[in-house]
Amino acid sequence: MGLALQIVEIAKASIPAQLADARVQRVNLKVGKMAAVVPESLRFCFEVITRSTALEGAELFIEEVPVVARCRACDHEWTLNGPVFRCPACDGVNVEMISGRELDIVSIEVEKD
Ligand SMILES: [Zn+2]
Repeated sequence: MGLALQIVEIAKASIPAQLADARVQRVNLKVGKMAAVVPESLRFCFEVITRSTALEGAELFIEEVPVVARCRACDHEWTLNGPVFRCPACDGVNVEMISGRELDIVSIEVEKD
């Protein structure tokens, strides 16, 4: 619920003043697969929170970002499909995650009247 609240706050803050009365049609989000977000429950919370606001009825579009890791030993980069943090190239374990934890609002689409 807290996350949905944050998204609503950011979305509201991103609406330009001259569009303050406009209805938001869609909020585009980018969510890393490691961000521990369940799209269904996020959508549900979003719907509940936005009732009677400018965001009521807005669609929450969630693009899932794959988890990409990089090996510090050999610079190999790959997409993780499971919780295995071992370099497939050199079998090293000195691995960092370079994407997959993000949670960004990419854009907000406002209805033009
Ligand atoms: Zn490696």
